[in-house]
Amino acid sequence: MNVHKLLLKHGIKPSLQRIAVMNYLLEHCTHPTADEIYLALSVSIPTLSKTTIYNTLKLFSEQGVIQMLTIDEKNVCFDAGILPHAHFLCKKCGKIYDMNIEEQSVEELKKFVNTDGYKITEMHYYYKGMCKNCV
Ligand SMILES: [Zn+2]
Ligand SMILES: [Zn+2]
Repeated sequence: MNVHKLLLKHGIKPSLQRIAVMNYLLEHCTHPTADEIYLALSVSIPTLSKTTIYNTLKLFSEQGVIQMLTIDEKNVCFDAGILPHAHFLCKKCGKIYDMNIEEQSVEELKKFVNTDGYKITEMHYYYKGMCKNCV
């Protein structure tokens, strides 16, 4: 699916800047922060402001096209992978890794909490410790 269509599907008007931000997130699955995205894109789009980046990322996560991760309390970061997966933060090198969760386990996890009458729109699974490279 192209980015233009992807944004429209989520009720987002696809402006040039929004398309650039979405493309960046799809190409960089490294969980970039707003500042990293700004630094990378401002080279080719000098008119881009930090505020635009923040607003765009906020809109994208509200519309469910990306995930906002708060696993690292110092740096909020963003992820274009919206299929359920867990995140692991290495306390030593600060990298955030994706971890697969089976669709089935997601349903299992919901059984552990009383969600009667609540509509869940987001679930986050955060793990912290030391990554393979750091242990
Ligand atoms: Zn590490
Ligand atoms: Zn991720």
